[in-house]
Amino acid sequence: MTWGCPIREGASRWPEAEALTFAGRRWTYRLLDVEVGRWVAALQARGVKAGSRVALLSANHAACVGLFFALGRLGALLAPLNARLTAKELAPLVQEIAPELTLAQGPLLDRLPGAENLEAWGSAEQAPSPLCLPLGASTPRVVLFTSGTTGRPKGAVLTEGNFRASARCSAANLGAFPAPRWLGTLPLFHVGGLSMLSRCAYDGGCLVLQDRFDADAVNQAIDQEGVTHASFVATTLERVLEARADRPVPASFQLALIGGGPVPAPLLARARAARLLALQTYGLTEACSQVTTERPSEADGRTAGAALPGLEVRIADPEGQPLGPGREGDIEVRGPTVMAGYLNRPEATHEALRDGWLRTRDVGSLDERGRLTVLSRRTDLIVRGGENLYPVEIEAVIASHPAVQEVAVVGIPEARWGEVPMAFVVPRPGHAFPLDLDDWCRRSLAGFKVPARFIPLEALPRNAMGKVERTVLRQRLPHV
Ligand code: AMP
Ligand code: MG
Ligand code: MG
Repeated sequence: MTWGCPIREGASRWPEAEALTFAGRRWTYRLLDVEVGRWVAALQARGVKAGSRVALLSANHAACVGLFFALGRLGALLAPLNARLTAKELAPLVQEIAPELTLAQGPLLDRLPGAENLEAWGSAEQAPSPLCLPLGASTPRVVLFTSGTTGRPKGAVLTEGNFRASARCSAANLGAFPAPRWLGTLPLFHVGGLSMLSRCAYDGGCLVLQDRFDADAVNQAIDQEGVTHASFVATTLERVLEARADRPVPASFQLALIGGGPVPAPLLARARAARLLALQTYGLTEACSQVTTERPSEADGRTAGAALPGLEVRIADPEGQPLGPGREGDIEVRGPTVMAGYLNRPEATHEALRDGWLRTRDVGSLDERGRLTVLSRRTDLIVRGGENLYPVEIEAVIASHPAVQEVAVVGIPEARWGEVPMAFVVPRPGHAFPLDLDDWCRRSLAGFKVPARFIPLEALPRNAMGKVERTVLRQRLPHV
């Protein structure tokens, strides 16, 4: 089975439907198809062909969309790089990709030696090329570096089949919705952003693209742009709700997916009280975004929902033996959205994929109805005297203290228990240590979960994706 370019298909099926909006400009499927054809011509002239890799360093921009679909028509791969990385962090990634061509947005050009200006390319007045190679399920489309907070970064290779299946499985869970309008604030260099783009394109939908997250711009798009769907992480949802104050969410808005990291249930309840249906979702780069998502009809924010129709999730022990409902273990995923493997990394690929099951390195459990609770990343788990401690659970209690702005709990080696939890705490402005955190924790946590020490910090170290760098924290730990 092969497919053509979804924008090309859209241009013949619904030519005047809106496909993309960005910075006040609008493209119908017909116009976007012309734009993509121009990109194909420009890339062809530059020697890009089937199997070539093109590295891209850019914030969200309409040109990224044109490039993504044009590379599909050429059978070439897009390797989007995180626009927040420094020149030093980017160098090894580019070396791994070995790109035919490197493109960067104007202000980012100096971070990538040899990069050409994306915006200059996008505005080239080239006659559109009709070339449109057929895409198969296993045709590689994208190399995406995962935001792993440990070790050498790995580039997950995602195929046309992965993106198609992801869009189809997601729609099957959320319910049929004709021509959705997805709000694109998640970066297109992340799987969350790219999968939104493909969810729109295969369904005749429109991507309402924004160059970065801005709570007021999000609310404006919800109120005035007829946005029907959005994806946020917990902190951005919080900012959207805060900026809305008591303004009701219009009936045109359907739902928001919330994931990418721990999602506090009270936050989702707050969103629903404001009539913004927010569904917890669990996903990862290696499975082309969503794996599980709450069903809109029975969302309570308590779990990350069940596997999307068409995907399987199981909990396994370290040997890969499945565990029953209620048991805690490794989360594994199987189905058509699972990546082909990591670029140039046969060993890491072999380790990650076992008998078709993707080992996520996250720890969780399933209930009798197959709904997933994500407990921790495998590497964040603290084992104290044989007892598993989940930093997320301890962090939630500390974060509920009125004087605490942010907190991260990590495990450190200790002679008696093997490992004990320690808490790094950022106090709210106007508050200072000592705080009554030990008492506070003891009121709601078993004694063995209470951190051995609470250490004040001005800010938590975060990586370019905004995830807390626990390895950095562990290096900062004083001896116990
Ligand atoms: P990435 O490495 O950027 O693809 O991010 C995927 C990781 O984010 C997963 O492996 C989880 O560790 C984390 N994650 C995603 N969704 C959730 C969720 N609902 N709850 C807790 N952690 C999550
Ligand atoms: Mg990851
Ligand atoms: Mg993520």
